[in-house]
Amino acid sequence: MSDVTVSIRVDDDLYERAKVRAQGQGHTVESILTKLLTDWVGPPPVQPPVPPPVPEPEPEPAYQTYTVKAGDTLSKIAKEFYGDATKYPIIAEYNSLEDPGRIFIGQVLRIPPLTPPTPEPPPPPVEPPTLEDLNIPWVPSPHFNERPDPDHITTIVVHATANSTLTGVLSWFRNPTAYLSAHYVIGKDGRIVQMVKDEDRAWHAGRSEWREVPNVNDYGLGIELVNLNDGQDPYPEAQYQSLVKLCQALVHKYNVSTEDIVGHYQVSPGRKTDPRGLDLNKLRQEIAAG
Ligand SMILES: [Zn+2]
Repeated sequence: MSDVTVSIRVDDDLYERAKVRAQGQGHTVESILTKLLTDWVGPPPVQPPVPPPVPEPEPEPAYQTYTVKAGDTLSKIAKEFYGDATKYPIIAEYNSLEDPGRIFIGQVLRIPPLTPPTPEPPPPPVEPPTLEDLNIPWVPSPHFNERPDPDHITTIVVHATANSTLTGVLSWFRNPTAYLSAHYVIGKDGRIVQMVKDEDRAWHAGRSEWREVPNVNDYGLGIELVNLNDGQDPYPEAQYQSLVKLCQALVHKYNVSTEDIVGHYQVSPGRKTDPRGLDLNKLRQEIAAG
């Protein structure tokens, strides 16, 4: 605040009488005038305090209400509103229910809208199945010997058993007079059984040759599919998918080229026809895609 000097004109007589009276009270005319002016104007207006900024209220999601009736459970209500009984904890939490099992008839529940589900993270890249994943049971056959080089496995030979049941094949390959075996047998229901260890030489291909290398049993793995091999008997989807998974696991483990997944007829041409009716090109493509 700064001072301002104000001049007023009054007649001598008035001023003299005012001065005497002011001095009689210990004042001056100027101080009396200042007080009069102050009283007349009144106190300065009080600045209204600036209100603190009001935070924007979070928009409350619109909720529905539901009045509990006889026979209701929170799961039942969740099923009714969300189509999913397992979502009852959303209602319990929204209504601060300590025990979701305790609601009472006439209780008014607020049913919040379902928040949109957060998008699922992209699935991890699909790894080929491992032999361990396939959890293959072991039914040993006595018909095998040592490979010339147990680390040299380069070819997979697919066969059809010319037989109609898995148990029939298993018992034949365990028959001491059979002198036949395969590393794996796959039933029509997709069950896979292992009968000879991969590193051993199973007796499935017989007289054979692949890429000008004779004796495919030396370096091949044999897979028998239970099938009549008449060109009519189908390879059911479960059996086919087990074959794809098994081949994927073997290809991955032994680094076999999918071009070296062959039918028995390819390594013993003119002598063998199996597996008749199986599309090996499609099989190789599906194995390569996995
Ligand atoms: Zn065969």
